[in-house]
Amino acid sequence: MPIATVDPTTGETRRTFEPLTAEETDRRVALARRAFDEHRATGFAHRARLLEHAADLLDEDRHSIARTMTTEMGKPITAARAEAAKCARAMRWYAAHAPALLADEHPSAADTEDSGAARIVVRYRPVGVVLAVMPWNFPLWQVVRFAAPALMAGNTALLKHASNVPQTALYLEELFRRAGWPEGCFQSLLVGSGAVEAILRDRRVAAATLTGSEGAGRAVAAVAGDEVKKTVLELGGSDPYLVMPSADVRRAADTAVTARAQNNGQSCIAAKRFIVHTDVHDAFCERFTEGMRALTVGDPLNEATQIGPLATEQGREDLEALVDDAVRRGATALTGGRRPPGRGRGWFYEPTVLTGIRDTMRIHREETFGPVAAVYRVADADEAVALANDTPFGLSSSAWTRDEGEQERFARDIEAGGVFFNGMTASHPALPFGGVKRSGYGRELSAHGIREFCEVTTLWYG
Ligand code: NDP
Repeated sequence: MPIATVDPTTGETRRTFEPLTAEETDRRVALARRAFDEHRATGFAHRARLLEHAADLLDEDRHSIARTMTTEMGKPITAARAEAAKCARAMRWYAAHAPALLADEHPSAADTEDSGAARIVVRYRPVGVVLAVMPWNFPLWQVVRFAAPALMAGNTALLKHASNVPQTALYLEELFRRAGWPEGCFQSLLVGSGAVEAILRDRRVAAATLTGSEGAGRAVAAVAGDEVKKTVLELGGSDPYLVMPSADVRRAADTAVTARAQNNGQSCIAAKRFIVHTDVHDAFCERFTEGMRALTVGDPLNEATQIGPLATEQGREDLEALVDDAVRRGATALTGGRRPPGRGRGWFYEPTVLTGIRDTMRIHREETFGPVAAVYRVADADEAVALANDTPFGLSSSAWTRDEGEQERFARDIEAGGVFFNGMTASHPALPFGGVKRSGYGRELSAHGIREFCEVTTLWYG
């Protein structure tokens, strides 16, 4: 894949970049390692000031960086600005909370007296240089939610961003530099995915985090496993969205539109499979379909646009193939199911609602990365849980029910990294984020996220 900005609204190549040579990549890795040796010795207060400065600069830059993101991957400009603002908030959150999240722990004397120590301290030390392999769908947020905690912990970062968002990648490097982070603390490597293995095998690189497809995750984790290096993987999702009879069905349907269509439908935590109790199925479907049909599809730079083009031509072809397979095998499109007419060369796809899904259809097992919803009808909570879990993925989930017994049941049985009751899944700096099964392992955000790239070190004093 060439490293280039290709505008998904027009299909036009705006800018191309030469990948870094192996020598230049080596120089950058060396720089990251040297920077780590100095950076780890600085204190939280110093790092917090630098991170807060980056947040202030990002707030100032939000209009221009939002435009860059929209031009590179097609998200609506309003969503791009909101993403920039969310990144600034996460930076401030980690600047404020990292000292407490990584404070030394002192096991009680009563628990440790037979260890022979006069005193024991458990300390979180940074691991070193962390390689981040990141996707294009939230080109700022995916990076910041790793970088803010990793840098606060004292690590340094090498970003290998997706090849279609190079200008956003370079912006991030420049942002940290302008905020005063020493050279080498955060670098963007403009390289293709073929260069990742050598970087990860380099002894100066300690660990890796990857957000993206299962195939990419498997490739990176295999190399890391071979090198005995730690990884965090945040892969795809096919999140279930359960609607039970006690739910506020109108609110569930309205929220479902946002949960499915956010980011032009290209979010790992978007609701993708709508599992609706038969008593409320028709009412839900009617309102949900109306909402999906009413979305404004168009130029993502237009303030009124709610759905822009898909990020890549391949992405649209993959989505079309899933819908066509489902329809051929008997699914019905209540709305959408095609490219919108009159949109020229842009990679647009109409918001789509499919019913009559069967387990023989590809859409039942695979992730739909675009504005396509699969709706199922179920008879009871048992069937809802079985269907929710009948997927290789397990990122997050939503369950609409006011019945406390049902809530407890879903909290126990849904195989996912989260269950959001009467609301849609959304990430927040204070909440652990990550999946089970083929959605990956490890957690981002919260105390769990910042500790992923720390070594838990036992200090024993005789
Ligand atoms: P990829 O997983 O291919 O890309 C994500 C990142 O991984 C990019 O930086 C990519 O680099 C890199 N990468 C890809 N293959 C390898 C490899 N073998 N070794 C090392 N790095 C690699 O996602 P796509 O853009 O191709 O999207 C395909 C599908 O993945 C989507 O349709 C969706 O289902 C899923 N996806 C999920 C995301 C999520 O948020 N969980 C985000 C994006 C995609 P390069 O760009 O240079 O290829």
